[in-house]
Amino acid sequence: MSRVLVVSTPMGVLGSGGGGGVELTATAIVAGLLGRGHGVTVLAGEGSGLPASCAGARLETQPGVDQPSWQHLDAAAPITIPLNARLPRFWQWALAQQDQFDVILNLGYDWLPFWLTPHFATPLCHLVSMGSVATVMDGAIAAVGQLHPERLAFHTRSQAAEFPLAGAPIVLGNGLDLSRYHFRPEAEAVLGWAGRIAPEKGLEDGAQVAARLGWPLRVWGLRQDEAYAAAVAAAVPAGVIDWRGFLPTEDLQRELGACQVFLNTPKWNEAFGNVVVEAMACGVPVATYARGGPGELVIEATNGALAEPDNLDALTAAVGRAAGVERAGCRRWVEMHHGQAAFAERLEAWLLQVLTA
Ligand code: UDP
Repeated sequence: MSRVLVVSTPMGVLGSGGGGGVELTATAIVAGLLGRGHGVTVLAGEGSGLPASCAGARLETQPGVDQPSWQHLDAAAPITIPLNARLPRFWQWALAQQDQFDVILNLGYDWLPFWLTPHFATPLCHLVSMGSVATVMDGAIAAVGQLHPERLAFHTRSQAAEFPLAGAPIVLGNGLDLSRYHFRPEAEAVLGWAGRIAPEKGLEDGAQVAARLGWPLRVWGLRQDEAYAAAVAAAVPAGVIDWRGFLPTEDLQRELGACQVFLNTPKWNEAFGNVVVEAMACGVPVATYARGGPGELVIEATNGALAEPDNLDALTAAVGRAAGVERAGCRRWVEMHHGQAAFAERLEAWLLQVLTA
């Protein structure tokens, strides 16, 4: 049994949506490690909350402001640490308390923890949450890969392929607590879309496809970029988009289950795509682009349909094919590949590899 410190993202606080998919991943990791008998401490932003499945973990919090999100900066942008930022407070705490832990797991996509890796006495490892979006981050991640390749893990093969790694990458997928997602055999005549409302998520493509098909598009998620959200809405007839707001998992999964098809439209190389497997867990087939993590998760005719990236005709046709995919098969596929217990096993095996390296 090990003592694990999980350092969450410094973006937002757990439960706010500001941390994107990392929030759900963090809770799956904590619950999964607790379930395997490990002692877990979570370091997260002040105001964070953990679901009941993480009740056995100790929660430490730090105040402070967000980092600028790397995916919204120029690829050549320098490292920025704002005044009163959470990020250095997290790592100051981790440095001071490291003796209490056998291993430290970083979930944040930030230069500081990657750079600190060789300077910690307690092994510090990283589950990388995004693909390549900034040159300075590529360098920091590659530097860890050169010194301690076993300290880096990724969600998908296509994500890992974006980084120059010496050997085969450690690919962990992700894990959902499937007891929180209810399978729904019957759908309504609506399409669904969920995620942060920000340009890299390509909501405009989902809206265009819904408008072409004449089906309403229910949209869930944090409006990270209001101007972008307004522009997407203005480009389609009124009533095409049904804005449902940012919902906690319990409510999100209930509403997701009603959809005929879930649309996923990333404009970037999405590392994984939690919302893709969440929709499938509710029995909803997914239509997405053959790009990045979602392009790896969606298997034509098994759990959805794939389209050539950025091709709206192809995506419209994919929605039609996805609507014919067996809903129970979508749920089964997630149970087989991305359940929380199997994810925790893969994660534990990785941490043991780090400890014995
Ligand atoms: N999400 C949520 N409520 C909503 C919409 C989305 O909790 O109303 C969560 C969803 O469960 C998922 C995350 O937002 O975990 C989005 O993660 P994803 O991996 O799809 O994209 P990211 O934001 O990490 O780029």
